[in-house]
Amino acid sequence: MKHKTIIEPFKIKSVEPIFMSTEAEREKFLEKANFNTFLLKSDQVIIDFLTDSGTSAMSADQWAGVMIGDESYAGSKSWERMEKAVKHLTGMEFVLPTHQGRAAERILYSHLGGKGKTFISNTHFDTTRANIEFSGAEAIDIAIDESHDPSLLHPFKGNINTDKLEKLIQEKGAKNIGAVILTVTNNSGGGQPVSMQNTKDVSAICKKHGVLLILDCCRVAENAYFIKHRETGYENKTYEEIAQEMFSLTDGAAMSSKKDALVNMGGFLTVRDKSIAEACTNLLIITEGFATYGGLSGRDMEALAIGLKEVFDPAYLEYRIKSTAYLGEHLHKMGVPVMMPIGGHAVYIDAKKLYSHIPVDQYPGQALACELYIKGGIRTVEIGSVMFGKYDENGKLIPAPMELVRLAIPRRVYTQSHIEYVIETFDEILKNRNNTKGYKIVKEPKFLRHFTSHFQKIN
Ligand SMILES: *Cc1c(COP(=O)(O)O)cnc(C)c1O
Repeated sequence: MKHKTIIEPFKIKSVEPIFMSTEAEREKFLEKANFNTFLLKSDQVIIDFLTDSGTSAMSADQWAGVMIGDESYAGSKSWERMEKAVKHLTGMEFVLPTHQGRAAERILYSHLGGKGKTFISNTHFDTTRANIEFSGAEAIDIAIDESHDPSLLHPFKGNINTDKLEKLIQEKGAKNIGAVILTVTNNSGGGQPVSMQNTKDVSAICKKHGVLLILDCCRVAENAYFIKHRETGYENKTYEEIAQEMFSLTDGAAMSSKKDALVNMGGFLTVRDKSIAEACTNLLIITEGFATYGGLSGRDMEALAIGLKEVFDPAYLEYRIKSTAYLGEHLHKMGVPVMMPIGGHAVYIDAKKLYSHIPVDQYPGQALACELYIKGGIRTVEIGSVMFGKYDENGKLIPAPMELVRLAIPRRVYTQSHIEYVIETFDEILKNRNNTKGYKIVKEPKFLRHFTSHFQKIN
């Protein structure tokens, strides 16, 4: 028979206890954390949906790999295995290990970037943009128009607008384009996938103009799942074959392996061009480590090589994408305004719609993040005017375009009943909807204020 219930395709060998706090305890914890979920301690949290980065549970095979990690400074066996796994997946000749994604980005984009250069992407992830801008170059986002409407259904909302791409390259001049960067899935755009057709079109435009195409491939396996199930012609390909085809259309890739390589730390950079590889290797050795470890332990590289294979297991990917959708679609049916369709790694709630009585300068997203913590011990993050808001010259808030709260789901960590518990918590959130109050910021740093700001509830 074909079962309706999708079970976790793993047994649990090792458990990490959760401290089960009461609502009264959480009121105190949150007050002490000045109503900022980043300032909570992890043992004050029941379900941690702060991020899916570096929070995966490793498999028994990966832990076994940790024990055979070769910690040699040069020519480590574990590096050989990692290099082989990356080459098998990407088909690229040169691979550089890095301690995480942004290290790969800093190396590649400081080499390709600099003053006068332009980078074009569906959406640059924040560390990608920061590294490009730090080099003196500019970063322009041109996802398709459909990506800006949170409730619009479109199978590949992560796609790049190819008309705009063509125009921008002509306007800026091909020699001034540092690279075109395709982020799969599009993290900042809600974990939405990019189609193979769009990748082919982007690749053809880049080839025509002699511009480099780089894949930000943090979630390339999750993206492959969507292609297999939504794009004609890919029904009978394996997830790994789909990912391999995507890499074949590009000139290089950067990966934060803390996502789809199922490890707690790690990353890599890979390119086809020898001269880029040589320049980047020099930078790697100066700041990260020798070319056969790049800031990683042998055991990290071993776990990464294994994770990069495991993530393409069809049973795993089906469980991963469908369990994320299960949460999102349940919330949608209950009347919680969620971003549609549900992406690969997270569910995004539209807090401006949920709390239409809370003005944006009283941070409806922060209000929801606090409510979720108090009612369920669920830790999330505001992605709205706390994170991206700015002030005008009169000190008035210039709000972000959207007031979202992200529930990012760690890989292989939570079970169906954890998810049911989260859904139940939203019942309470909806009941209290009209009594929920906004917040004001009472203390904030100059940059990246969401990490350390202090808040007060407005009564
Ligand atoms: C996480 C992430 C990065 C940066 O990786 P780190 O490992 O956090 O440095 C870059 N791009 C995307 C799309 C990401 O999700």
